[in-house]
Amino acid sequence: MNCKDNNTNFLIQMRCDIEREIMTLTNILNKKNDQLKFLTKIVKQNCNHEWIVDNIDIYPEFAEDLQIKYCKHCLLNDNT
Ligand SMILES: [Zn+2]
Repeated sequence: MNCKDNNTNFLIQMRCDIEREIMTLTNILNKKNDQLKFLTKIVKQNCNHEWIVDNIDIYPEFAEDLQIKYCKHCLLNDNT
């Protein structure tokens, strides 16, 4: 086995490791997304929401603001 083979084998191993890591992280991300959806639903149903309407200056130079509405307790917005 020459040096080039060693380098190629190293790259193959590295590629496999990264591929496996991405699969693991994707699984973790999917589980976290499911947990977030579940918790959001519970909070949305149980919080005694007190809605606050606020303006955010997105492009102050154009005097454009975006109006947002969020709960001062749970921080959910009315689109959540
Ligand atoms: Zn709330």
